[in-house]
Amino acid sequence: MRIIIFGAPGVGKGTQAKIIASKLNIVHISTGDILRTAIKNETELGLKAKSIVESGGLVPDDIVAGMLKDALKEDRCKKGYILDGFPRTLAQAEMLSEIFKELGTETNHLIKLEAKDEIIVDRISNRLVCSVCGNILAKKLVTNNFVCPNCNARDSYYKRKDDDEEVIKNRLKVYHEQTVPVFNYYSYKAHIIEIDGTKSIEEISMDILDKLM
Ligand code: AMP
Repeated sequence: MRIIIFGAPGVGKGTQAKIIASKLNIVHISTGDILRTAIKNETELGLKAKSIVESGGLVPDDIVAGMLKDALKEDRCKKGYILDGFPRTLAQAEMLSEIFKELGTETNHLIKLEAKDEIIVDRISNRLVCSVCGNILAKKLVTNNFVCPNCNARDSYYKRKDDDEEVIKNRLKVYHEQTVPVFNYYSYKAHIIEIDGTKSIEEISMDILDKLM
């Protein structure tokens, strides 16, 4: 199965993409995770992307599309994938169509997670991320000496720099201006699944799996 998960920053794409990938035994490709790893490892890509990511802007289309193409070429993607955080602009959607043509593949489903901006700002301001595996948890759940329930790392949870309230507002503005139009691009190209992103994590996964099957 080849899926795009779509929605505003903080709506729960990453959390749901991980669950769906594991349930369907497909690969989770998050351009945000690839960029954060590059920033952490101070690679050439990371150094270029750092200030853009930290201010909530978008990394140039050709750079992200190149990263994504490299990921999709990997053998492990043959079993299917879920794209999280890409495409984020119309130009990226068009580049993705070209990549699909070249690789002889395409998307079957687009899952759109929906929630109001106020809910998202509140959620992102109160979340922490595991620096080792990228798992996301509500701040109130993370105590001293906390062990990550996903990868067992200790004291690995931190607040992403771009989860600061002012940066979140910028990310939402960028989403409404540049990413929302991508949804229309797919309206005739993929099976669209619209999901209420305000329910619990478990309910949302069940809704998604129900509609995918
Ligand atoms: P995410 O984890 O998907 O919220 O992405 C975090 C940040 O990485 C975004 O706010 C952007 O700065 C950058 N980023 C991730 N995916 C893309 C993309 N497809 N195009 C441009 N920038 C991206």
